[in-house]
Amino acid sequence: MSESLVDKVLSMLQNSGELIQSRLPKLLGVDAKTISKTLKLLERNGVIRREKFVDEGKITYKIYLVKREQGIELNDISWAPCTTCPNLERCGRGQPISPESCEKLTIAIKIEHQKLLSSGGINSAK
Ligand code: SF4
Repeated sequence: MSESLVDKVLSMLQNSGELIQSRLPKLLGVDAKTISKTLKLLERNGVIRREKFVDEGKITYKIYLVKREQGIELNDISWAPCTTCPNLERCGRGQPISPESCEKLTIAIKIEHQKLLSSGGINSAK
């Protein structure tokens, strides 16, 4: 996944409030499959939400920024192994390959949690 593509999508969402997925390939000059993979990753990480939408007779999605007020940066999710995972397209909740059973993701979350605790970014649970 291209970092600049994530940056562009998030920037466009911050400016416009919503996007239509089927129009992004033309707007960004990127193929639809790459756009779809990127949006699935952002959705899986809670950065965006998508709602089915009919655009010129075709089913697509409207895309919204979930954490708009928090000023999402690429660094917010860059620690996730999903960004470079070859199983990204096959991974999903309730599937044989899933975030719930992914050891790589579990380890990455624990490391990120420990980093946040060490930096004072969060408080430990009591
Ligand atoms: S298999 Fe793990 S690392 Fe790969 S996309 Fe799924 S949760 Fe992310």
